[in-house]
Amino acid sequence: MEAGRELRAEALRLAEDLRRYQYEYYVLGRPSVSDLEYDRLFDRLSALESRYPELKTADSPTQRVGSDLEAGFEETAHTVPVLSLDKAYSVAEVVAWMRRLPPQTVFSAEQKIDGVSIVLYYENGVLARAVTRGNGFVGNDVSENVRTVRSVPLRIPYEGKLAVRGEIYLPKKDFELLNKTLEVPFANPRNLTAGVIRRKQSREAAVVGLRLFVYEGFFEPPLPDQQAVFEKLREYGFPLNPHTVFLTADEERLRSQIEKETRGRPLLPYEIDGLVFKVASTAEREALGYTEHHPKWAIAYKFESPTGETTVEGIDVQVGRTGRMTPVARVAPVEIGGSMISNVTLHNQDYIDLLELSVGDRVQVSKRGDVIPAVERVIEKNEGAPVYKMPERCPECGAEAENAGAHRFCPNGDCPAQKRGRLKFFIGRDQMNIENLGGETMDFLIGKGFVSFPPDIYRFDYTKLMKYDGFGEKKVESIVRGVEKSKSQPFAKVLVSLGIPELGPKAVSLLIDSGLTSIDLWLEAAEKGDESVFLSVKGVGPSIAASVIGALNRPEMRGMIEDLRRCGLSFECGKRSSGTDSRFEGTSWCITGSFGHFKPREKAQEEIEKRGGRVVAAVSSKTDYLLAGEGGGGKRGKAEALGVTIIDEQRFLKMIKGEE
Ligand SMILES: [Zn+2]
Repeated sequence: MEAGRELRAEALRLAEDLRRYQYEYYVLGRPSVSDLEYDRLFDRLSALESRYPELKTADSPTQRVGSDLEAGFEETAHTVPVLSLDKAYSVAEVVAWMRRLPPQTVFSAEQKIDGVSIVLYYENGVLARAVTRGNGFVGNDVSENVRTVRSVPLRIPYEGKLAVRGEIYLPKKDFELLNKTLEVPFANPRNLTAGVIRRKQSREAAVVGLRLFVYEGFFEPPLPDQQAVFEKLREYGFPLNPHTVFLTADEERLRSQIEKETRGRPLLPYEIDGLVFKVASTAEREALGYTEHHPKWAIAYKFESPTGETTVEGIDVQVGRTGRMTPVARVAPVEIGGSMISNVTLHNQDYIDLLELSVGDRVQVSKRGDVIPAVERVIEKNEGAPVYKMPERCPECGAEAENAGAHRFCPNGDCPAQKRGRLKFFIGRDQMNIENLGGETMDFLIGKGFVSFPPDIYRFDYTKLMKYDGFGEKKVESIVRGVEKSKSQPFAKVLVSLGIPELGPKAVSLLIDSGLTSIDLWLEAAEKGDESVFLSVKGVGPSIAASVIGALNRPEMRGMIEDLRRCGLSFECGKRSSGTDSRFEGTSWCITGSFGHFKPREKAQEEIEKRGGRVVAAVSSKTDYLLAGEGGGGKRGKAEALGVTIIDEQRFLKMIKGEE
């Protein structure tokens, strides 16, 4: 049955009203209707939508309660630059940054919210995707969960495409209340937020009171400055942090602002871990440009690391997948910066010697960058106790340890600790990403002897698990699904998963781009012992080359690769042009506008980078070419002013085909 015109109109009206009330309540903090009235309207709309599903829209206010659908968290490429900022750990560094700016420069001082960074993509006014920061190029699509965050506008009065960056966070109070109810509490609001954003069921996310602040809007053509961006975003209903101020380059003013925010920090209803300073004017930003990694027009000031005092009760040695032995101090539990610390890494023997650390010492522990706890210094010696010495043998398998560089290694490839480490690495999120097969299940499989090296993961009959407690039919099915799905991981991921020391995703991608597009080419180069194949690639050094050759020539590794190949894993690239074309070597490119052949325009970027060119985010006097598609305003003008060669799509196509 279809909804009549009247019902259709009612649903529209209800949605309109509810949207406004949500905005009043969650963004302005000033509701104009009672909760009861709100619930009544909400229930009425839900009832209409469930009766007549065609009335339900993606931006309906009822979507705020989430659904039971399993969110898949697809990986999605960012279509706007998601930059990371240069960091300063002292006020002096911020002052030094400010002094390098031209006089009279206006810049913003913003709180650095300690939450989860998110990019919201709107298309024709509707929230199309919400993507985590990820590695800055690719993030996870967590739209289902983010739609449940009430201060995220689902609809904005803006035609065309708009990306908005912000931070999703959980207020301290909500965190404390919620954490009390959890069996395993989270260390801090950020971790809980990150967990919630990745919940499989958005209904679970909906009940947590996550919030949003936005701080960047990518308008095309760009607006003249950040103030204009903020004004627009506010107009569209986005929540902006009220503590943001704009300063001119005045040292006194800057120092007093930092002081004020540092003092105010404990009183805020949410956590911040620093301040961010950004040049406001779009033109000045482009003129300042970028270093290899960061924009020069911004800096993030991190508050001093929180520290605590505790006693070292013992030192354990952990053996990783490469055999590396890492000493870890077991300390009396101490709360630092909101989380309980009971294990602190000591890195290696050199570090222990430097501290002159003994078991029983009283120590100062810090959480640098608020993440990894470290022993800073010994406060009080446990008199008479000797400085700790790492064991001469592997604590797991008893093999005699070997030293290499600053570290000590267990040389036994069959060491159970190493095997365990390799398997867990193999299934990890950044490698084969086997969903539904976690570390605990892996421990169980290893313990029972079902799995002892990666190919076993693909050969084991998981239905055998059903006779054990905790492995129901559903769980087993989900494991099998995850294992099957992982077979479609691309060659680059498979290669990283093999766990060859020093061969990380970056080196793999450089080497594949250089033409090593199948495992056979890698094996062949390794067999010949030809380091030059690897060393000729910029960014690949001798230690990577030696490690790859050594690892790929080991019979066990060759056997494992053959086994995995038989299991159906991908050992060559899909379709990547082989051979090395370096016609753009040493040139710097900027891209603007949209293209007919290159959608999204990252595809044009790939073509440039594949040929040795570098793509930068903004036009400067050092840019060689501006690749300009349809639209794209500001950059073209800038390029013209600076005399940068402008290339249109037709000419670019000729260039990459070698016709020019
Ligand atoms: Zn060992």
